[in-house]
Amino acid sequence: MTGPGTTPEIAEGVLAAFEAARGFMPVDEGRALHAAAVEAARLGLPLLEIGSYCGRSTLLLAEAARRAGTVVVTVDHHRGSEEQQPGQEYHDPDLLDAADATRLDTLPFFRRTVADAGLEAHVVAVVGGSPRAAAALGGGGGGRFGLVFVDGGHTDAHATADYESWVPQLADGGLLVIHDVFPDPADGGQAPYRIWRRAVSSGAFGEVATHRTLRVLRRLAPGI
Ligand code: SAH
Ligand code: MG
Repeated sequence: MTGPGTTPEIAEGVLAAFEAARGFMPVDEGRALHAAAVEAARLGLPLLEIGSYCGRSTLLLAEAARRAGTVVVTVDHHRGSEEQQPGQEYHDPDLLDAADATRLDTLPFFRRTVADAGLEAHVVAVVGGSPRAAAALGGGGGGRFGLVFVDGGHTDAHATADYESWVPQLADGGLLVIHDVFPDPADGGQAPYRIWRRAVSSGAFGEVATHRTLRVLRRLAPGI
């Protein structure tokens, strides 16, 4: 990991719950996400997660929110990304909707993950499409979140829409965290990398830390 600061402890039980939960974040990146969330939560504002899946990364944001007496707002339609659909590389058949086996429903798994870890009081789950949720929660501007964690759809259209609809709602001094950043196309899709570059080249952000595919930036100036 590059960047300043020590890694705070993750509360007893939460780390075990994180490791047990389905999802796509390894423990070392989870620790880096948690460290960013603990720091950002000191602003006293809610944290935001785009892309919750079964609640794995949510647990770390919720634990950080609990320490600071705030919440994490999670956004996911809980129908899965393109690569999680039946027949695709990251499909998990256990997650098919009990009432309609042609589609996913990760919401029951998400709820159980959060409840079993005792963190329901620190999670406000929004079930819906990301840009639509952003517009309904107040549109651009406002600086209402202390941290924005982007881990939703990985097409350029989704990543760009997530960036444009939520990053304007990040407070000055708040942290923008982007997962699955692969500078080399041989390692993975480029959409998260492209929004990371867009943030850096906007001049509004400073680089705080990098841990493998997880990038942490701080808003230093208004605008995206
Ligand atoms: N953060 C999770 C993994 C998220 S996987 C973890 O660490 O385990 C990506 C998630 O983004 C999926 O659950 C998918 O349903 C959601 N997603 C993809 N595109 C979306 C969109 N446009 N609006 C809302 N959610 C979306
Ligand atoms: Mg991810």
